[in-house]
Amino acid sequence: MMIRELPSNGIMYKALVEKDSSYEGVFYVAVKTTGVFCRPTCTARKPKAENVEFFSSAEEAIDTGYRPCKICNPLELSGTAPMWVTELLNRVESSPGERWKDDDIKKLGFEPNRVRRWFKKNYNTTFITYMRTKRLGEAVNKIGNGEKVTPTAYTSGYESLSGFIDALKNLTGKAPLKSKEVDLLSIEKINTPLGSMFAGVTDKGLYMLEFEDRRMLKTQIKRITKIHNLVPVIQKHKLIKKVEEQVAQYFEGKLKEFSLPLVISGTEFQKKVWNELLNIPYGETISYEELAKRIGDIKAVRAVASANGFNSIAVIIPCHRVIGKDGDLRGYGGKVWRKKRLLELERAL
Ligand SMILES: [Zn+2]
Repeated sequence: MMIRELPSNGIMYKALVEKDSSYEGVFYVAVKTTGVFCRPTCTARKPKAENVEFFSSAEEAIDTGYRPCKICNPLELSGTAPMWVTELLNRVESSPGERWKDDDIKKLGFEPNRVRRWFKKNYNTTFITYMRTKRLGEAVNKIGNGEKVTPTAYTSGYESLSGFIDALKNLTGKAPLKSKEVDLLSIEKINTPLGSMFAGVTDKGLYMLEFEDRRMLKTQIKRITKIHNLVPVIQKHKLIKKVEEQVAQYFEGKLKEFSLPLVISGTEFQKKVWNELLNIPYGETISYEELAKRIGDIKAVRAVASANGFNSIAVIIPCHRVIGKDGDLRGYGGKVWRKKRLLELERAL
């Protein structure tokens, strides 16, 4: 696990006093006197500096023995963007052709560092890259709808046609003339009680559902878009809404089987393992050895465990239902504390 570096205690305490929402998700604050931990923006009364302890993740705070605050619900990650982000995006979207630089952001009255921090945290990218990807995705859509390459390049904010073609090639591996054959993988964040997840879909189905702090997230996006010749774009899609609804019902204990079209991307062996995972009923667990047996190769325990870890549709393809022979939870790409919570949820019923 990567250990994220925290800002200094002084900076964090100041952010806490000012309820600075750009630190949402950057740190969590625990209060030694109450045993409760909060988001930086919690509306509860501010504790004294000598009574607080800072953590870079909610799970660390829990591991240390703190309880989540009932007022600010630190386990539900910042769902909606803060006002200033919405405002920034509105301002930027009103002139979509423009190329954005730090200076332009400053001119609009936004602090570039704050913008950088928020986009890094929430989309794991810079604001500039976020806008660039978004613009390029819109351009691919236009070309797909039959618009000519040159006007599209200029209205997308590229100064030269060759720059646009290069960017498009980088993103799709294809020249724009062929981009009619390119589909978009729409990616959007959804919120769950165990933190945010990224869902990736096309009209064909769900390709990806991953916890946002998962180490493999970027690798998975690259792998999936390469296999299916897709361009990743951060944008809304009606199927993501459906995913969000069903995932919410699942976490409320109201849904035991998902009914969503899945597009599984992997080797024949991986697909075999993942299809077998779908046969493990809600509320049950099996061992890695049993899983190997079920796919007909008792010796393939290690390969089975590895395929399990490569699952890109978490929760829905229930790789969390595979545990050690001895009952030990073993690893989980989305972190073991989540695996524990998922199994607790399913067993509670
Ligand atoms: Zn709180």
